[in-house]
Amino acid sequence: MTVDTRIRMSHVSIGDRERQLVAEVLDSGRVAQGPKVEAFENAISSIVGTEHAIAVSSGTAALVVALQAAGIGPGHEVVLPALTFGATLNAVLAVGAVARIADVGATFTVEAQDIVPLLSDATAALLPVHLYGLPADLPSIAGLAARSGLALVEDAAQALSAEVEGRQVGSWGIGCFSFYATKNVMAGEGGAVTTDDDRVADVARRLRNQGMRARYEYTMPGLNWRMSDLHAAIGIGQLERLQEVDRDRSSNARTLTEGLRGIEWLATPEIPPSRTHVFHQYTITLSDDAPLGRDDLAERLDRAGIESSIVYPEPVHAPECFRHHPRVRQDPTPNAARLSQSVLSIPVHPGLRTVDIERIVATIATAGERA
Ligand SMILES: *Cc1c(COP(=O)(O)O)cnc(C)c1O
Repeated sequence: MTVDTRIRMSHVSIGDRERQLVAEVLDSGRVAQGPKVEAFENAISSIVGTEHAIAVSSGTAALVVALQAAGIGPGHEVVLPALTFGATLNAVLAVGAVARIADVGATFTVEAQDIVPLLSDATAALLPVHLYGLPADLPSIAGLAARSGLALVEDAAQALSAEVEGRQVGSWGIGCFSFYATKNVMAGEGGAVTTDDDRVADVARRLRNQGMRARYEYTMPGLNWRMSDLHAAIGIGQLERLQEVDRDRSSNARTLTEGLRGIEWLATPEIPPSRTHVFHQYTITLSDDAPLGRDDLAERLDRAGIESSIVYPEPVHAPECFRHHPRVRQDPTPNAARLSQSVLSIPVHPGLRTVDIERIVATIATAGERA
């Protein structure tokens, strides 16, 4: 048997606790949405600090349910950032709204000043993304939403437990979380909507379950966005280790930054004051005068047995299918376009050992010297 010495981008850690919780569900004979989903929701709302958490089948479902519960639909415009996963844009399209695309700042996240020029009479919601685990500038974005009478929906899929000014992401607006297999906390698949608004929570619960308030009591059209108790059981076990995961990711990020700081042709992630970063991704940016290109660096890492990932290779509205979509505005986003050519995410997960981090740093440093 050969030992796998590759350093992977993600690391799924499933312990005895998850096995025990899943076994409880299997033994109960009741595997659909039930008591484990309720316990999972309670755990999420207590972490995020909201009155309600509504578990759904994915982060994408959370975005669709949150937008619909906020009353967003045809005729409305929603502003989202250019640097994000396709789910953010797909959710806006799924509810029938028009997508306006804001550029991002140096922190990779969207700022109020990038949103303001896109506002129109049709704007109904702002949808910032807390990219890589770093919150967007929520105080200014929430202020803009409140002043302009807009809904605020947060795509917090990558950022569970990150804070701005001591307040959790997902509690500033309607929060959307993902528990997909590679997220910091995972349930295999899963998502959650968080809110303090009783009406939003009530609508979200009905949308999740065919629009029913009780069995066969239909109150609105809905679909099946439910999470199963099997997935919730995994999620509960993972949530019990959240503090450990946050501590390890942040300590790995610190060690990477200490090692890479001396390399003048790349920039390490910045954490603006008053925000915390949960490092779903650790993303470096190569400068224009770097001795080698971003793709060359990725290849050098790969040859040294180190995975890396381009998150994301182009602005969200750039693919052909969105370029000609009648509800995707081709707003110019030069900074996001430039970043998508120069970013590279490297491993930061809790499974890394000190020697792994040393190998990552040494490989990047050597790649610059021997370019
Ligand atoms: C993962 C992710 C989603 C979607 O979550 P799924 O659970 O995969 O549906 C949405 N937005 C962002 C920014 C994500 O990273």
